[in-house]
Amino acid sequence: MIPQTFDYVRARNVGDALKALAAKDGTKVIAGGHSLIPLLKFRLAQPARLVDIGHLDELRGVTEVRRGAKIGAATTYRDLLESKLLAERYPIIAEVTSGIGDLQVRNKGTIGGGLAHADPAADMPAVMLALDAQLVLRSKRGKRTVAAREFFQGAFSTAMAEDELLIAIALPPLPRGAGTAYVSFEQAASGYALAGAAAVVKRSRSTVAHCTLAMTGISDRPYLVRAAEQLVGTQGLPDAIEHVAAQAAAGVEVNGDIHAPADYRRHLAVVAARRALQKAFVRSKK
Ligand SMILES: Cc1cc2nc3c(=O)[nH]c(=O)nc-3n(C[C@H](O)[C@H](O)[C@H](O)COP(=O)(O)OP(=O)(O)OC[C@H]3O[C@@H](n4cnc5c(N)ncnc54)[C@H](O)[C@@H]3O)c2cc1C
Repeated sequence: MIPQTFDYVRARNVGDALKALAAKDGTKVIAGGHSLIPLLKFRLAQPARLVDIGHLDELRGVTEVRRGAKIGAATTYRDLLESKLLAERYPIIAEVTSGIGDLQVRNKGTIGGGLAHADPAADMPAVMLALDAQLVLRSKRGKRTVAAREFFQGAFSTAMAEDELLIAIALPPLPRGAGTAYVSFEQAASGYALAGAAAVVKRSRSTVAHCTLAMTGISDRPYLVRAAEQLVGTQGLPDAIEHVAAQAAAGVEVNGDIHAPADYRRHLAVVAARRALQKAFVRSKK
């Protein structure tokens, strides 16, 4: 289909984009366009104006910040895959990114666009929860930081206000020696997660000292599995991992659709969680 007519502004800098958003006149941000353009074509979104930020260098790149990392919101998936800093400090980012879409999607799609779009089946949000990422938002009114764990509020719904721009994603340092893993069962055509699990495990000698497990694709938003804390203090033996994984979708309203009925998706959640925990455990240093 053909999108409804809209105006187009190519922002010269972030200030320009914030000014356009502050008008609150139906302006929407466009970065890589991989999620937004299909919505426009189906007329599921009908913005009066698009403000383009995809080319802004000030929103792009990965930098080291206090033993952690800061990722500009308009950093493409390809940039993420090419970042040595991320490969060394957060190998889970390359692990998840290599499975997102295809080459075209990874060349143009941005991490910020993916997070702002908040598709409940997107892969990256679970990783952001597991890493306890902080999302930096700016508007003409000022700047604020929202934890990824608070950011996703429902399907295609986030804590961002209409006039806010996602500027960057801040990753705190991982616990020393921690192992990480992302495991997903993909919808065959798109690659989106039917069920995806991101795990972070730290060991202290032979005992689990820290464990985080986050899920995506299961419900209307990504979530943390509280039961992951039950692995702490154990030796991470298969029974203990199975006990935690079994609770991957406990208390959650599980989505069902033509790709995966709710019961099957619940089963996939448990298997993805188990595999992610096992991998992260094996990858962690004693
Ligand atoms: C064929 C295909 C396969 C895909 N497969 C996968 C997959 O396997 N796994 C997966 O997770 N995803 C997948 N995706 C989705 C892909 O990850 C997203 O389309 C992409 O990340 C969106 O980024 P973008 O820069 O293109 O955003 P855009 O399409 O430009 O924007 C998306 C939304 O975010 C808003 N936005 C963008 N940037 C900002 C910002 N900085 N601040 C505030 N709001 C902003 C826009 O207004 C819009 O609402 C797939 C997409 C396609 C087309």
